[in-house]
Amino acid sequence: MATCAACGKTIVFGGVTKGKKRYCNQDCHHAATAIRYAELVPDDVAADRTHEVHQGSCPKCKGPGPVDIHTSHYIWSAIILTSWYSTPEICCRSCGIKAKLGAALLCMLIGWWGFPGGLIGTPIQILRNLFGVLFMPDSKKPSAGLEAMVRLGQGRPTMVEPTRAPTRQSPEEPGDAGNAIETRNAIETKDAGEDGDAADALANMDNEW
Ligand SMILES: [Zn+2]
Ligand SMILES: [Zn+2]
Repeated sequence: MATCAACGKTIVFGGVTKGKKRYCNQDCHHAATAIRYAELVPDDVAADRTHEVHQGSCPKCKGPGPVDIHTSHYIWSAIILTSWYSTPEICCRSCGIKAKLGAALLCMLIGWWGFPGGLIGTPIQILRNLFGVLFMPDSKKPSAGLEAMVRLGQGRPTMVEPTRAPTRQSPEEPGDAGNAIETRNAIETKDAGEDGDAADALANMDNEW
């Protein structure tokens, strides 16, 4: 069975193929694109922004930091089907503890009901959550994972790929981020259309890309 090139999950049904790579869905394809851009963020910019986020207030409860990545692990099963996944979140320690304990409880309720995956996986996911509560991220310095997430956030605004603009004639094509931006460009061009010249100028600019 194929595995997703972004999240590593096994693709059971469907999936999206881009070039030689396969992804669970468009979200995973976007994530892979975002990672490529995140790598382009300069180190000093990433370090400064990571420090700000780490010392800032919690995006979940608005309480005081330090803020870092807290990952909750889940599993659910239905007879022969078992699905595992992990959800990283940027939040404070107390939100992190709540999320992990909540996830452990959920695993306990819906993890078991499959054979053999559920029986094997449920204790593993519960333990991962409990270890996550016992071994919290270092509060003195941001984790490498937090920096990676911050880089992803910083990388995103540069995701406009100028070379893609001419393909905007088909924005209805099940799109990626590029297409979404192109659609917006198309709308903006249309709005400006009442002014005539402005629209022409915009259209020409796009073509020069
Ligand atoms: Zn995926
Ligand atoms: Zn919080």
